[in-house]
Amino acid sequence: MPTQSSPSILYIEDNADNQRLVQRILESRGYLVQLAADGPDGIAQARETRPTLILVDINIPGLDGYETTTRLRGMNHLQGVPIIAVTADGREGARARALVAGCDGYITKPIDPRRLTEQLGEFIGGKREELPQGAETPLLREYSHKLVERLEQQVRELKAANAELQELDQLKSQFLATLSHELRTPLTSILGYLNLFERGTLGPLNDAQGQAIDVIARNAHTLTRQLNNLLYLQEVRSTQIKCASVSLYDMVLRLVVEQQARAADLGIQLESALQPTQPYAGDATALEQAIRNLLDNALKFTPRGGYVRVTLHDDGQRVVLRIEDSGIGIPTDALEKIFVPFYQVDSSLARPHPGAGLGLAIVKHVIEAHNGHVSVRSAAGSGSVFTVVLPRTLRNA
Ligand code: ADP
Repeated sequence: MPTQSSPSILYIEDNADNQRLVQRILESRGYLVQLAADGPDGIAQARETRPTLILVDINIPGLDGYETTTRLRGMNHLQGVPIIAVTADGREGARARALVAGCDGYITKPIDPRRLTEQLGEFIGGKREELPQGAETPLLREYSHKLVERLEQQVRELKAANAELQELDQLKSQFLATLSHELRTPLTSILGYLNLFERGTLGPLNDAQGQAIDVIARNAHTLTRQLNNLLYLQEVRSTQIKCASVSLYDMVLRLVVEQQARAADLGIQLESALQPTQPYAGDATALEQAIRNLLDNALKFTPRGGYVRVTLHDDGQRVVLRIEDSGIGIPTDALEKIFVPFYQVDSSLARPHPGAGLGLAIVKHVIEAHNGHVSVRSAAGSGSVFTVVLPRTLRNA
């Protein structure tokens, strides 16, 4: 039975029958056996441990056994660890190629169960096979050519796959843009009629009707925001931001005031401490959309009884906006991903909230287009703080 101190063999082989056979033979002789199904897996395992010996099947998919060996040979901590090729190709050329790639020897298939442990024991004991004098240089040259050819082929395949993906992405963008436009037209008419109801133009509403209209209006506005995000994402990718003088103070103040009623409905305390700002050169529509998205998220992900605080500060060099909430927070491992289009945290707390996962992608795009930066500090269960820093570049001086 193998123990912690038994010699360990890393066996890189994709065929499950061969894996089982070798594992059974070696474990019955007291070896520890680690299995890897392909080259990258073997390399990853070898990075973590230092096996006593590595056995590599030459004919594995993806990175073949030669290439895997060359990569393993480049790892300093594996110096002195024998790497043995296993191949069904018994010809002299195959053996020489294995040695040139960095193997210390090779074993032919089918594996002879009676001899395997003895063969490995010899290599562990120091046996090394060598190439005949003068054979190495031409073989190395041939091996390098093969590697470059393979690389070339892979680059060609990757380029083709990339072109196909770009085309698909383009189609998807066109589809989203068309869909959003199609949906926006009827929505504009719904919003128009809602406005007539809200202003009483179509006659007085009783309380129940007024409440129903409020619910419809809230949902219609959410839908509008989502559609705007969708359309915006398509547009901002292809268009330049338009710079004009903007009062960020006025903008943030207006957005906060706009959200007060919603916050009250949700039972959330919406507080703000806004410092007047100097005129800022930026794209008002884009910035408004970004700030609205941050505020919308803060309200969306904060339970009743919580708070959302907005602060704005201008030190002459840069304008800093902070939106802090006491909400459900974001797990640490999701912090990087939330800015990726369509990403949403998959948790029972976040799931019930509507959204398309586009809000923060737009925030990042807009803020970076202004040479700014958006960052987040959060942890699951302890609220979130989003900080937007908009530097005054030369244009903004
Ligand atoms: P969505 O439209 O789904 O809100 P976003 O891109 O704005 O998309 O946000 C991506 C995800 O990041 C959200 O689905 C949510 O899981 C998480 N998130 C964003 N802001 C907050 C916040 N203030 N508190 C908790 N989670 C948040």
